[in-house]
Amino acid sequence: MDFNKFLAKIFGNDKLKFSNSEISYDLICEIMAIAQKSHPHEFAALFEGKLKEDTLKIEKLVFVPGENSEQGATLNTLMVPTNMKIIGSVHSHPCPSNHPSNADIHFFSKIGIIHMIISEPYDISNIATYNSFGERIQCKVIK
Ligand SMILES: [Zn+2]
Repeated sequence: MDFNKFLAKIFGNDKLKFSNSEISYDLICEIMAIAQKSHPHEFAALFEGKLKEDTLKIEKLVFVPGENSEQGATLNTLMVPTNMKIIGSVHSHPCPSNHPSNADIHFFSKIGIIHMIISEPYDISNIATYNSFGERIQCKVIK
């Protein structure tokens, strides 16, 4: 199934927009730890979560089979169970840039509505959040 259709099915076509997004500090710590452990390779995972009123809540990481290499992490999105509420993705860049590549922007447009990139040295300040157009957005970290 096409994932944007899948998301539209979950949220309803008119509910794909959100004003705020949230992630827990614990989940941010998990992302930083995995990115550090994966270095010099990229890691990639999907976000499961929900839309509550106009706030998108990132709740957990979903790992799916993929290829990890210095060339980039790819996710086999066909392997994602369709009962999961996938809202986006996170991946690491083993370099100091957390800007999305052209391939990243293409991926962002295909699956989910919120995406994070964490770059070396994988601190909280190295995390950038993007929408499905690859535009920078804010994500509130909840303690
Ligand atoms: Zn990337």
